Amino acid sequence: MAAVGRLPRPGRLVLPSLRSDDDLARMTRYLAPPAPPIRSSAPPARGRVLVLAPHPDDETIGPGGTVRLHVEMGDEVHALFLTAGTSGDPTGREDKVAYASRRQDEARAAARVLGIAAQEFWGFPDNYRVNELDLGAILPRLKQAIEAFAPDVIYAPHLGDQHSDHFTTAVLTQRVLAQLARPPRAFGYEVWSASRATWIVDVSSVYATKMAALDCYPSQLEHTDIRRFVSGLNAYRAVFLDKGATYGEAFVALEPDARAGSS
Ligand SMILES: [Zn+2]
Repeated sequence: MAAVGRLPRPGRLVLPSLRSDDDLARMTRYLAPPAPPIRSSAPPARGRVLVLAPHPDDETIGPGGTVRLHVEMGDEVHALFLTAGTSGDPTGREDKVAYASRRQDEARAAARVLGIAAQEFWGFPDNYRVNELDLGAILPRLKQAIEAFAPDVIYAPHLGDQHSDHFTTAVLTQRVLAQLARPPRAFGYEVWSASRATWIVDVSSVYATKMAALDCYPSQLEHTDIRRFVSGLNAYRAVFLDKGATYGEAFVALEPDARAGSS
């Protein structure tokens, strides 16, 4: 216990002994905590919107409220689903083709609720270990799709999402942005992992619509209480918003990066 006696009393600053001006400059440098997120009651950018979703339901779980705000402001929203989502059947007993078609029907129903004008389903396998050859095969197709729709804003999972399909979609997004002459703004949404958010959008006014869209996915809700998870995450995100706001959606900027995902 002898060492305790040498500690400064609470509230007393420990003054270093300075030998030079360099010491003084170093000691007076301030810490730089992460910047707080930008808070907004509107989407982080406006215009034509493309949502990249690894599976049918991610477009609702992640940016569903923000998508609805875009639609209410008159922005055209399209959604592109990369995989068929057949791994969403934890029983493994469903017929794969029928299950994929069921998830597509659910996505169409959710799109009607949110106001998404068009959807495309690419049907790649999910829960799939992707390599550089796979990325090389998908990237030209993704680039072509983006150039054809010419979105001003893209939403995709963020790079810190710990689900492999979500991570892959984030990698693809950052890489394709690096290939575009005029890349649109891109924002990473949260599904399976929280991000260090750079934007929080207040979705309180459209939250009931987001939940109604989520209810279009009984194939997923019957196995997992996604409603509860999403409500918890979005309620937590309101901590950054003005008093009275009940739900927020968090985003982190996705920058062009030709080497995203490679170590
Ligand atoms: Zn997903």
